[in-house]
Amino acid sequence: MRVFKFGGASVNSAPAVRNMAAIVGRYCDDALVVVVSAMGKTTNLLEQLVPGVNTLDEHPALLQQTKDYHMGIVRQLFTDAAHPVYADLERLFSQLQRQSSLPPTTYNYDYSQTVCFGELISTTIVSHYLNSIGLENRWVDIRQIIRTDNQHREGLVDFTATCRNARAMLLSDSPRLVVTQGFIAGSADGHTSTLGREGSDYSASILSYCLDADSMTIWKDVPGFLNADPKYFPDTVKIEQIPYNEAIELAYYGASVIHPKTVKPIQNKNIQLHIKSFLNPDAPGSVVGPFPTIRPLTPLYIFKKNQTLLSVLPKDFSFIAEDNLQTIFAVLAKLNIRVNLMQNTALSFSLCIDDSPMLLDQLRDNLQNQFHLRYNQGLQLITIRYYTQDIIDRIVGSSTILLQQRTRTTTQLVIQ
Ligand code: ASP
Ligand code: MG
Repeated sequence: MRVFKFGGASVNSAPAVRNMAAIVGRYCDDALVVVVSAMGKTTNLLEQLVPGVNTLDEHPALLQQTKDYHMGIVRQLFTDAAHPVYADLERLFSQLQRQSSLPPTTYNYDYSQTVCFGELISTTIVSHYLNSIGLENRWVDIRQIIRTDNQHREGLVDFTATCRNARAMLLSDSPRLVVTQGFIAGSADGHTSTLGREGSDYSASILSYCLDADSMTIWKDVPGFLNADPKYFPDTVKIEQIPYNEAIELAYYGASVIHPKTVKPIQNKNIQLHIKSFLNPDAPGSVVGPFPTIRPLTPLYIFKKNQTLLSVLPKDFSFIAEDNLQTIFAVLAKLNIRVNLMQNTALSFSLCIDDSPMLLDQLRDNLQNQFHLRYNQGLQLITIRYYTQDIIDRIVGSSTILLQQRTRTTTQLVIQ
């Protein structure tokens, strides 16, 4: 059994869907589970339709944009206007419209009930398309399989329940090709939850773990795991082999090629993770596995944009570490905020988080009684592994360093 994950870019147009179908067609002699994300940038669009984010009069245009985008693709893939895909999509679009016009409850709950439509729509299209070209498959609602707690946005996975469901629902014989959604899951309270942005990689890795997959493959628009993002670096080096622990570190620092939670499940079952180009499926790509070091050994650069550097200072001059960290971490955990970098002095705690005006407001609400808060937004967090001073100087250039940390192998800089 193999598990494939196709991200938004691999299904963002009709030719892209045809291309992914051709890749599936080459591998589906054996049992294959295909995990698909929302098409293109659909999730960004759906985030605007979460109740309470925009005013209701902005919704019709956003809904129309979502619909036009998908229908443009569907009309190229299915020339028969009576094809059942059209009725299935009509139903999903009207459910989305209903969901987005509900009165707001809590953001994390509303978020998942709304953005899940991206994956429900994409897999409906892909599954029908594969069937239409003779790749007989079963569309599976992953919310019946991946079980999370009730956090709804970035739900915590219950592996015992999930694996029981996965084996019961995915190991039947007919048909052995399964199409299902990445990113979304079912919460313990019976609603939809999500696994965090870009979480489809994690979905595929959860299923690989539960089904003891022979391998997992993420199909990307890059040739493999590169030492830097080609958007910022003209000369990138492809890493051929990456040890599991190195892959976790890199993903945690923000290497966007894989979601940070992806590696643990496959490492725990010693499953190899292939990262391959959907534009060049015959090229070897990169492999994450039980290797001693990365190969080739080369400096690695990870840029995280849109960062907020926040300093939290106790109003009563009490020490941060002894008296206050517990309070601060409890608030961060409650609000589900991921800290990308942290550092403390006697009287201040600095943390680097992704820019989010809404979460920053909530942080302020929760902390301002006890603490002064100062922050800078729109910063960049740069991580360099296997750095030299020369490399740091070149990267920082004339920017201001607001915070820096350094170990023997890794340096991290917050710059303005
Ligand atoms: N569609 C979701 C997102 O864009 C999940 C994913 O792409 O992995 O974040
Ligand atoms: Mg995506």
